[in-house]
Amino acid sequence: MKPLLPIIPYPSQEVRRLPGLFLLSDPLAVSVSSDWSGQEADAFLSLVGELLSVRTVRVPAEGNRAAIRIGRRMSPMNDEGYALDVGTEGISIEAMGSSGVLYGLQSLRQLKTAYADGVPCCHVVDEPMLPWRGFMLDVARTFCPFDDLLRIVDILSGLKLNMLHLHLSDDQGWRFPVDGYPALVEGSGHDWYTKQQLRDLVSYAARRHVSIVPEIDMPGHVLSALVEYPRFSCSGGPFSLPTGEGIFSDILCIGNDDAIAFAKTVVAEVCEVFPAPFIHLGGDEIPLQAWRSCPKCQRRKLSLGLADERALLRWFCNEIARYARQFGKQVILWSDYIDGGYVPYILPQVWNPLVGRGKEDRLPHPAIYSEYFHTYLDMGHDLVPLRNVYGYGKMLRSMAHANGDDAVVGAELLLWTEYVTTREDRDLHMFPRLLAGAEAFWTDFRRADYRRFLRIVEQYAASYFPDISIVLRTQWDPPLPIRLVSRWKRWRRVKRNSTQAGIVL
Ligand SMILES: [Zn+2]
Repeated sequence: MKPLLPIIPYPSQEVRRLPGLFLLSDPLAVSVSSDWSGQEADAFLSLVGELLSVRTVRVPAEGNRAAIRIGRRMSPMNDEGYALDVGTEGISIEAMGSSGVLYGLQSLRQLKTAYADGVPCCHVVDEPMLPWRGFMLDVARTFCPFDDLLRIVDILSGLKLNMLHLHLSDDQGWRFPVDGYPALVEGSGHDWYTKQQLRDLVSYAARRHVSIVPEIDMPGHVLSALVEYPRFSCSGGPFSLPTGEGIFSDILCIGNDDAIAFAKTVVAEVCEVFPAPFIHLGGDEIPLQAWRSCPKCQRRKLSLGLADERALLRWFCNEIARYARQFGKQVILWSDYIDGGYVPYILPQVWNPLVGRGKEDRLPHPAIYSEYFHTYLDMGHDLVPLRNVYGYGKMLRSMAHANGDDAVVGAELLLWTEYVTTREDRDLHMFPRLLAGAEAFWTDFRRADYRRFLRIVEQYAASYFPDISIVLRTQWDPPLPIRLVSRWKRWRRVKRNSTQAGIVL
């Protein structure tokens, strides 16, 4: 067998293992070329110390005292790309951007962890296939303690995933405090994050080149808000907090100006806390019956001259997207309802595997892709086996091939938490599928090799992530008949939930 370099995700371009080892000393001499600013150089030094668990000493870039030399690569390269060269005399990392330096260090960290007696000499040139490589965590159904969020940021950064999409509100819980509407969290009896914690999370993640994409779902999936503010519903309530999964028929009354003002205040405060130029507003699974029987919503529909409730929904989404744009934010929506009538600067996130399969007019692109049977980590391995997650890279590539390179902005793995309620359970759903997703999104699909991936995961994943629980190897890829039956049963259940709520998939 060819000696392999155990890096996850596997490098995209050049990977060569060379004879010899380099032993990292402690303290470690690091030089940073003058092409980087003083601030960047300081950040690199502390990252080296943190990721390689060593003390660092800065030495001049001239001369050859440095064990690690961080240089700037001037030949054209993807901003996140890097070149890593380990020789018996020292290590060099070159990149165009600071994220590239971080990723070079992350690869080095894995190599250091894998080989106790020294880092193997090698030559690596690497860059990502997709610019948006995300993981969505539903912190609404099950609250994720703040420290666990930091741990997840570390894990994502180690796998070169650069987007943490936080699903902050849903029917079952609201985790974001809104100054104008304090009852959303205070006295609600459930956990939430303070704005200061969220700001701390943003800056912690920024150092590791992970952006936080906040999601507040509207105008559906808002029962947790309606429990506290029933006047924003069509019926006036009262409501109680649901548990378990489902699509609930009480949604925001968009015939009510106060409810629209509420939605806008929430958006404004979310935009203020999270600096990333994106805000996700859900916009999925919206049963329209409530609006059909609400005099206010009907009045709104007539005064705007709209044909039906679908048009009313389109009006609301466009209104909010325009509003968010004033803050320099692009709105992301689940793609369920998006058609040509939506403002073009809404970015769709596709979850439905039927979208874009032969019905060209329904393919909303450019888009972020998170298809059900490839990225839903809350599902068991019988529904979303490891192999499917790994194979998603090739599918994304062929979609981009068919629809133009810009069609696929990126992809996300999703973890909904109606039934994933403890940290251990979360780990078991994430691992090793998160690793497969990271490789699917990062590595050029022509370099994809599932058997190599399995070898690396089996041998090294436990040492790369020492404190996580991973499902047994025998469960990663259940036999086909089991997978087909599970898939059929699950799809029937999704359809039934939707049909009960009056939604056509
Ligand atoms: Zn209404």
